[in-house]
Amino acid sequence: MRIAMIGTGYVGLVSGACFADFGHRVCCVDKDESKIDGLNAGKMPIWEPGLEALVKFNADHGRLTFTKDLVEGVKGAEAVFIAVGTPARRGDGHADLTYVFEAVRELAKVIAPGTVVVTKSTVPVGTGDQIEQILREEGATDVSVASNPEFLREGAAIADFKHPDRIVVGAEDESAQEVLKEIYRPLFLNRAPILFTGRRTAELTKYAANAFLAVKISFINEIADLCEAVDADVQDVARGIGLDNRIGAKFLHAGPGYGGSCFPKDTLALLQTAENAGVDQRIVRTTVQVNDDRKNSMVDRVERGLGGDLKGKSVGVLGLAFKPNTDDMRDAPSIPLVEALVKRGATVRAFDPVATEQAMKVLSGIEFVDDAYAAAEGADALVIVTEWDEFRALDLEKVADSMRGTVLVDLRNVYDREEAEEAGLAYYGVGRGRPGL
Ligand code: NAD
Repeated sequence: MRIAMIGTGYVGLVSGACFADFGHRVCCVDKDESKIDGLNAGKMPIWEPGLEALVKFNADHGRLTFTKDLVEGVKGAEAVFIAVGTPARRGDGHADLTYVFEAVRELAKVIAPGTVVVTKSTVPVGTGDQIEQILREEGATDVSVASNPEFLREGAAIADFKHPDRIVVGAEDESAQEVLKEIYRPLFLNRAPILFTGRRTAELTKYAANAFLAVKISFINEIADLCEAVDADVQDVARGIGLDNRIGAKFLHAGPGYGGSCFPKDTLALLQTAENAGVDQRIVRTTVQVNDDRKNSMVDRVERGLGGDLKGKSVGVLGLAFKPNTDDMRDAPSIPLVEALVKRGATVRAFDPVATEQAMKVLSGIEFVDDAYAAAEGADALVIVTEWDEFRALDLEKVADSMRGTVLVDLRNVYDREEAEEAGLAYYGVGRGRPGL
């Protein structure tokens, strides 16, 4: 199949490279010239495990190309995927569809009859209908519009794309279904479940999935607070409930609240969709509030650990990306934490294995250092914010020796209290009995 991918970000680039790896011919299009120039020179715009090798391999075999020119990109394509960003609109949280509609308008001028336009971007219910209307208005005829929401996780994006739990395809006509079936045939042969639904249902399924996961995280975070108050251990509680197949063990890790490019904006967008439809979604609405409060309250934990005053204190921060194995800083829990630390008078030395460059664009007034031990040097408190593997096996005695104080705030429950205390640190995890913070 010949595929065009409009938008070459986290989703577009990974999807494009994986489709090419399935044997399709893929052209990735992006408006961002520096991104395309970089890709044509073999430079990845994002940090994602395995991506560089996958892109290089498929580009070398001529199956994966990059262009700024939409006409060139969609020439001969049987399917055109839209994978542009859909950030939260300022003010009301509705998904901002400017990029999607802009792409569709441009596309309408050059698309050939018989092509299937597929939204991979996360878009609210009814967006497919609007895309269809724009295409019609702009004179593009005989073009099908399908929805194929993407469920990959950053940090494990290639594995997720190639071994998905399911593929959801929302299409209103059989020809679009057939094209998507053919595109995903390699996964179909691997028995990945493909769910064909109506277009609106597919659009909503993506939001429902993310909202459910956000609820799950917020639920265990609240249970963690309770654990601290009643001297119970949230990790054991999570295991105790997660072994129940009806619940499942994933997304039950207590921490500083969810962030990233999807959950925060997708929960808000779902609430907007619900409001427009006149249907209240109280659980998701509360989850958004719980998570916002949680992210903003992490600084209080550090402050309490340091005796109630951050002025003049030095705090080391380990991990800035919203999760390990990515350099994505969008809505990362580190942002409100670091900002509040600085605001309350602390000096911050932060280290992230790959996200420093991105972090520098959103965080100011702090020092970025080159490794975990440098972040600990002279610190009154050390805070683990992102659970990168390399933070799991730190020499805690070395850490303790180089610190000025003794406080270790482990927001990801990477360490055991005993091992930290043996190294001479005062340990504060999340939801792990008393003393909590
Ligand atoms: P991104 O910001 O990394 O990439 C979007 C890209 O689209 C940018 O490179 C931008 O320059 C380009 N673009 C915008 N308008 C364009 C146009 N008219 N023509 C060509 N290129 C254009 O975004 P992302 O994280 O890849 O997310 C894309 C979509 O996928 C969003 O709707 C998101 O919600 C969804 N999604 C993201 C993830 C994830 O983990 N990042 C997972 C599942 C779904």
